[in-house]
Amino acid sequence: MSITSVDKEYVAGTYGRFPVELVCGKGSLFTDSRGKEYIDMGSGIGVTCFGTGDETWLAAVTEQLHKLQHTSNLYYTEPCALLAKALCEKTGMKKVFFSNSGAEANECAIKVARKYSAEKKGAEYYTIITLEQSFHGRTLTTLAATGQEHFHQLFQPLTPGFVSVPANDAAALEQAVNTCKPAGILFEVVQGEGGVLPLTEEFVLTAAKLCHEHDIPLMVDEVQTGNGRTGTLYGYMHFGIQPDIVSTAKGLGGGLPIGATLMNEKMQNVLTPGDHGSTYGGNPVCCAGALSVIRRLDDRFLSEVQLKSAYIFSQLQGAEGIESVSGMGLMIGIETTKPVKEVISACMERGVLCLSAKHKLRLLPALNIPMAQLKTAIDVIKDVCKA
Ligand SMILES: *Cc1c(COP(=O)(O)O)cnc(C)c1O
Repeated sequence: MSITSVDKEYVAGTYGRFPVELVCGKGSLFTDSRGKEYIDMGSGIGVTCFGTGDETWLAAVTEQLHKLQHTSNLYYTEPCALLAKALCEKTGMKKVFFSNSGAEANECAIKVARKYSAEKKGAEYYTIITLEQSFHGRTLTTLAATGQEHFHQLFQPLTPGFVSVPANDAAALEQAVNTCKPAGILFEVVQGEGGVLPLTEEFVLTAAKLCHEHDIPLMVDEVQTGNGRTGTLYGYMHFGIQPDIVSTAKGLGGGLPIGATLMNEKMQNVLTPGDHGSTYGGNPVCCAGALSVIRRLDDRFLSEVQLKSAYIFSQLQGAEGIESVSGMGLMIGIETTKPVKEVISACMERGVLCLSAKHKLRLLPALNIPMAQLKTAIDVIKDVCKA
């Protein structure tokens, strides 16, 4: 039996997989079970930010793996403490809660915001305002936060206490703030799953101002936009705002599962012993890998991300068969004249793996993808998109 048929028989059918079995990889190249090589423009949905088998990451992870694999949160370990310190020093945040995924990082953010607002203003201040077309995860609470009805339908009732307003509609946001007794405002600065839709500066600044004026926790979901993806360490840094709570995951671990919820001065003491926890959260192996990622995301490296981004935009904007290009840094959405499914299959045929987001082609290459491979991949995409 082929791996494909074993998987089809025994793995829950929640994913529409492509007919490709990947067996190994190096950097931004993957090899499938037939020996065919691909340039990876998805990095495991923005996870392997230094590619596959990155030497520095591998060394950090394997060294820790040999020393100590897991301890539970009853004891101190070095990687967890040092990763929290590095995250705080690089963002100005004060404390970090570690979990294992983006959804869990958002769950923690929501708990912090609700506890803060309930204690400060009263138990009726529990509603989190999110945006339409947002994506915050697959748990029942983060689905409730996700402003896309089609994700909700089969799983009612979801956690109550969420409303969503149209992205980039400052008036609608202000109205929600004034009417719903908010516990927090939660958004992605570039909506990833929603179609790589960046928020406008005006909207982000209005949200920050409303939060400041009404003492509402400003929560930024940096699960996809974080960790260098948009060309700054975190996406909110493009806007000069200071969120109260930042959730992140995906690229943070560089390929191992980790989620982190960062809390600023105002939020740092909201959670007290017993309020929250995670068996695997802060796992030393995952934290050692994440630390090796975070340490390398400096200004010089991030400026290279921005140069690669500019190259992609300059190549694709106005090209034949390409209607629009959106996004920031190496998080890019492309509206194509041809249906996106066709474009993805044709690219795959020609050895380039791409993602989609709604009706768009989505690119999330490794942040260190070599320029030559990036050029080849972009040439293939341009060629495929032509009529
Ligand atoms: C992927 C994603 C999540 C969910 O992360 P998981 O690790 O799959 O739970 C949450 N928010 C955003 C913005 C994401 O892109």
